[in-house]
Amino acid sequence: MDIKDNIMGTIKGIGPKKAEILTSLGIYMIEDLLLYYPFRYEEFLVKNLFDLVDQEKVALKGKVIAQPVVQYYGYNRSKLSFQISLANLAVKVTFFNQPYLSKKVFAGRELVIYGKWDDKRKTLVGRKVLDVSASDEEFIPVYHVNKNLRQTELVKYIKAAFTAGFGELLEENLPMYLRQKYRLLARKQAVYNMHFPKQRKDYHQALRRLKFEEFFYFQIQMQSLRKQKKESAQAVSVLYDKAKVEEFIKSLPFTLTTAQNRVGYEILQDMRNSNAMLRLLQGDVGSGKTIIAALAIVAVVSANQQAALMVPTEILAKQHFESLTSLFATCNLQMALLTGSMTVKEKNATISNLVAGKIDVVVGTQALIQEDVQFSNLGLVIMDEQHRFGVNQRKILRAKGKDPNVLLMTATPIPRTLALTIYGEMDVSIIDEKPEGRIPVQTIWVRYKQFTAVLNWLEKILDQKQQIYFISPLIEESEAMDLKNAKELAEELTKYFANRAKIALLHGKIKNDEKEAIMSAFQQRKVDILVSTTVIEVGINVPNATVMVIMDADRFGLSQLHQLRGRVGRGNQRSYAFLIADPKTKQGVRRMQIMTKTDDGFVLSEKDLELRGAGEIFGVKQSGIPEFAVGDMLSDFNILEVAQKEAADVWQIPNWWEKEKFWELAKNIEISDNYKI
Ligand code: ADP
Ligand code: MG
Repeated sequence: MDIKDNIMGTIKGIGPKKAEILTSLGIYMIEDLLLYYPFRYEEFLVKNLFDLVDQEKVALKGKVIAQPVVQYYGYNRSKLSFQISLANLAVKVTFFNQPYLSKKVFAGRELVIYGKWDDKRKTLVGRKVLDVSASDEEFIPVYHVNKNLRQTELVKYIKAAFTAGFGELLEENLPMYLRQKYRLLARKQAVYNMHFPKQRKDYHQALRRLKFEEFFYFQIQMQSLRKQKKESAQAVSVLYDKAKVEEFIKSLPFTLTTAQNRVGYEILQDMRNSNAMLRLLQGDVGSGKTIIAALAIVAVVSANQQAALMVPTEILAKQHFESLTSLFATCNLQMALLTGSMTVKEKNATISNLVAGKIDVVVGTQALIQEDVQFSNLGLVIMDEQHRFGVNQRKILRAKGKDPNVLLMTATPIPRTLALTIYGEMDVSIIDEKPEGRIPVQTIWVRYKQFTAVLNWLEKILDQKQQIYFISPLIEESEAMDLKNAKELAEELTKYFANRAKIALLHGKIKNDEKEAIMSAFQQRKVDILVSTTVIEVGINVPNATVMVIMDADRFGLSQLHQLRGRVGRGNQRSYAFLIADPKTKQGVRRMQIMTKTDDGFVLSEKDLELRGAGEIFGVKQSGIPEFAVGDMLSDFNILEVAQKEAADVWQIPNWWEKEKFWELAKNIEISDNYKI
């Protein structure tokens, strides 16, 4: 008898056909069956006959009057009927497709029957027969099944497995000290209680134990990744020239904020030791991440290694290239740009200089991960707006060096709740303060009927020779509609402002070089109003643009609106964001209100998560957000946090897997040779 036995041939009633159906639910072995948990519990009340409401789910308690009658019809269909007496009245009960109940239901027996009340027929359509001992509150586990398998059948198999004694074979997998510390049920007990709880507290306790188990194992694995990364032998420490770094900081036109100083130090320290850095740098728009990237680059180059900065768009690559060039003016360091739109000749020149070690820093787009791009000594990889890149792209770029240090930058702060799970294997640095003297962007929500008033007001901005962004409505399903919307908006504005403003249109269909031309015209103030789809979302820096008008703002998520808003308020003039929206949902209204109230990207990302859910924000599959069977990263955050702390503590102990205390854990975790140093 083994818990890994196949379900077929072990559990009565499971033949090839049923086995196939169960397999489609992911149930192959006995163990899978035992661990196939209900996804919810349906709760109900034991009620009086006189309190019943039509179609209500209730339980009735009464005595069986006469032996049930079973009628068979169709294929495998049956109806079982009987009467029970309840407060001296006879009540009709029917059960569909559970003929075997006739063994349980016999005259004179007292029962509790759970089902749905059909008031017209004065009949209880039964779902389940419960023990008479059932209290006044009951619940029935509900499982995910499919049309070929009924709940009751599945429960029958699970019960059979427990009856056959397989439940006893479930091994404990949490160390004793943890079970004691957090008063967690034994695994066997927890699994049993999930399926057959007698009271509510039974499954509550079971869930708590199983959630902890799930999170704890996940975090043990995360911690092992961290450790593996830290101990990877290949990485070379960046023995940077301290004087050069300090000189660079002195050359800046401003002093670093406290947060920038702290984060810069964290990064330099991390690169100096012999572990490859894998660090996520989070900072709200305008918090000054570029300087930090520059600092890391200067350090790496001073140690005679190369750095690569990858960004998602050509415009951004150019912008970064230019701002870094001016920042590095006094640093004597060789820079190059590499983007898809460069000529083959230009590209080849850069590529051969890179591999020859003649270039210290390359800034580029995805062109950087092309196969023919090689480095002579790549020591640092930086990715800006990292969420725009997939894990694979990150890997390819990394593989172009010998375990280079990696710095990922993002302006979409990851809520604390998610950071633990998504980025468990990374170190995180946070810039939580903006440079002094910034005036927050004033955000105003305006309904469509006041749109003309906004346009009117904008004339003042134009008179002051300041510039304006308009973001056209976003239609997620259709690029064509996006374009149409953008064009219409541009026409409307052209009509309204006539020859008082020069208006340009930017959208996804415009060719790259044309896009660049439009952008640089805007940068040089040759254009007053830039109408755009969301293509300008990231990174664009035009300090003289002080107003952002977002049409149909309720269609955007909070983080995205915040990103867009971050395009203004970059100079020292007062800036404004107008959210034009007539939201149709409560959520939409809520988002508009939140946007006008807070300017803090972290607060917004937490709210976004609350309102939209993680999957929608990050795209569950591509972001690698783990999916848990019983735990929920948001609502069970407390358990997750405790599990993480405990997992980290385990990894603090050298060779923990050899210790008696951890044997329940060690037997379930594969420890690669990497750790056994
Ligand atoms: P982001 O974090 O959005 O990438 P940037 O790095 O583009 O922000 O910085 C935004 C602006 O703030 C830039 O113009 C930059 O020169 C400026 N800046 C960065 N750090 C400071 C500082 N410590 N003091 C003043 N201005 C700063
Ligand atoms: Mg930036």
